[in-house]
Order: sequence, then structure tokens, then C-alpha cells
Amino acid sequence: MIETFTAKRLLFVLGTRPEMIKVAPLIREARRQGAEAILVNSGQHADLLTPLFDLFDVHPAHDLEAMVAGQPLNRLLSRVIDRLDPVLEQVQPDYVLVQGDTATALGGAQAAFHRKIPVGHIEAGLRSGNPLSPFPEEMNRRLVSQIATLHFAATERNRAALLAEGIADSQISVTGNSVVDALHYTLANTRPGEVIEKLREQIAGRQVVLLTTHRRENFGDTMRTHLRLLRRFAEAHPELCVVFPVHPNPAVKEAAELELGGCDQIIITTPMGYADFVHLLSDSWLIVSDSGGIQEEAASLGKPILVLRENTERPEGVDVGVARLVGERASDLESLLNEAVADTAWFDHAAKAEKVFGDGQASQRIISRLLLPP
Ligand code: UDP
Repeated sequence: MIETFTAKRLLFVLGTRPEMIKVAPLIREARRQGAEAILVNSGQHADLLTPLFDLFDVHPAHDLEAMVAGQPLNRLLSRVIDRLDPVLEQVQPDYVLVQGDTATALGGAQAAFHRKIPVGHIEAGLRSGNPLSPFPEEMNRRLVSQIATLHFAATERNRAALLAEGIADSQISVTGNSVVDALHYTLANTRPGEVIEKLREQIAGRQVVLLTTHRRENFGDTMRTHLRLLRRFAEAHPELCVVFPVHPNPAVKEAAELELGGCDQIIITTPMGYADFVHLLSDSWLIVSDSGGIQEEAASLGKPILVLRENTERPEGVDVGVARLVGERASDLESLLNEAVADTAWFDHAAKAEKVFGDGQASQRIISRLLLPP
């Protein structure tokens, strides 16, 4: 008799906020389909992760505590590999699953490869085309693609990028991005909390421009220029209010203090819990962000977004007219902000645009594929 293999034990390795948001729906779905789903937390973003475990009711079985403040990337990567190895030996999973492009994703894939455990890559095939930007994420995701045996691409464009690099079509599944699953789940199962109630009082009926910026490529002059222009724009538009949850990275905090202090039109907050953040996102008029996940969420909610980046590995949002890219010159943000005020058609168009990043069923497709014979 031929025994058919069915993956039963799935080990998910993650360590940052966006990874947890995008992986939590998969773990819930794996358990729903009767598989054993084990979560390993590398600790790369300790503070931002903890509230997400409760929100999704998905908790880590292993904590690698790989993060040490200020440590170089090489030490982080080597600590992830070194500390994950005994967990792999103990758990003996059928698959190791990694998401996206972080040091944790690369370390997880590499550690699994050394133990000849097949790797599934969630959100595979994103490419900016420049190996140095975003740094080091673009190279991390290219390297994970070399290691993975199953590639879960969010879009057809991501599939095409993988095929162009020689990956076999049979190893790729186009599933949509599981961030859409997380967004739908959270909007349906939570209500805006106290933080949002208080914020609404401060916003006082003005339209919200929701700002986030934290990418390493923008640190320094670029970020300061963006913030200065946003301040000038907000001061010229009393009907608007910029809300800026500031990322804990000291480079972001410092730029915010230098450029935005004492401005009534700008509300600065600490990072928000995911549920509060997505409720605010869906109430906002315009999004301004350099985040990857927020580009996907904005497109899924039909909200116009100005992307504070030179390039984007998520051009699908630009293609359907929801996103506009600031590009290489930070000063171009000013004309894009002014155009947004003048161009009301953009808002109508964005609201009706095709939902390019998924339909909320990515987790179901990914887990069903993982539970098939290889
Ligand atoms: N997010 C959040 N609270 C905030 C800001 C962002 O929960 O105050 C969420 C956001 O909805 C998105 C994710 O964090 O799903 C994006 O994470 P980040 O911008 O850190 O990383 P990237 O997506 O650029 O890798």
C-alpha cells in the first residue's frame, strides 16, 4: 500500500508586528482544519507583538528572545538560526512557514533548510527590483525564495516574478494576501476602543489624514522633509487633522519631535493596537505611509494612499489607482498632497477600485495546499 503524506504539524516562525498580523489568520485556519499549528516568536519586535496574541487568540509555544537592542543584523540573524535549531529538533514539523522578508523569515528558512525540513513562504514573489532597497528586506525575500519549496504568492504579478527567477509553477499558489483576512476578521470582531473614542474628541469632526513612517530608507533628511511638508499642508487646511502613531524606533521619534512639536493640526500618538488602527484606517480620508502592510490594507478598504517611498514592491495598488508613489524626491509630497485636495474623483475611484490584494480567503487556500500531499 502507498502511504499518502499529509502535513499535520506546521511550525510558524515570526517576530514582527506585520508578520503576526498576516500569520495569525493562518494559524487559526490550520487549527480549524485539524492540523497542529505551532507558533515560534523570535522576539524581533517584542513590545508590538504581545497585544496581537490576545487579539487573535494565538499564542507562541516558543520564545527565542533573539532581539538585543542595537545589535547588528548579522547577530540577529545568527541568534534566530541558533535558537530555532533546538526547537526544530524537538518539534520535527512537516513544514516550517515563514512570512515576508524579515531577518526572522530568512533565519527561519535557513534553519529549516539545514534540517531538511520543507519551507513554505507566505507572501512570496514581492520584488522592488533593487537588491539594496528596501534594505535588507529585498535580499531577504529573494533568498527565502531560493530555499522555499512552496511559494504562496498574493497576486499574479508575484507569481510572474517567481517564474522569472526559475521557480516551477507547480510550487507556486496564488492565494491573495492574508492581511486581508486579518483586516476582515478584526473589523468584524472588534469595536473601536477607548483610544479611538478619545481620539475622536481631539479630531473634533475634521477629516483625518492618517500618517505612518518607519522605513530605514527614509531615516534622516527624507523623513524630516516629509514631516515638514505634512505640517505645512496641515496648517494650511484647518478642515483636516493629521494623526500620526509614532513607531518606537528612536530615529522616528526624534524626527517627529523636531518637525511636528506644537502643531494643533497634528495629533501624535503611541503605536496603536491593531484593532484600533484598522478602525481609524477605515474612518480616514487619506493615508500617507511608507508601510508595506498599510498599502495593502488601504487598497482593500478603498482608501487613497500616498506612498512615502522611492519604489514599491506592491505596484498593484498604483496600477488600480488607489496608491500614488512619492518617488525619489521627498519634496514631491507637497504637490501630491495638494492634488489630493483638488482631485475628489480620486477618492471615488479608490472606493470602487478592484481589490487587488485578495478576497479574505488566503488562509483557507494556503492551509488547504499545505495539507495536501506534496
Ligand atoms: N499597524 C498597527 N498599529 C499602528 C500602525 C500600524 O497595528 O500604530 C499595523 C498596520 O495595520 C499593518 C502593520 O501594522 O497591518 C504594518 O506594519 P509595519 O508598518 O510595521 O510594517 P510593514 O508592513 O511595512 O512591513
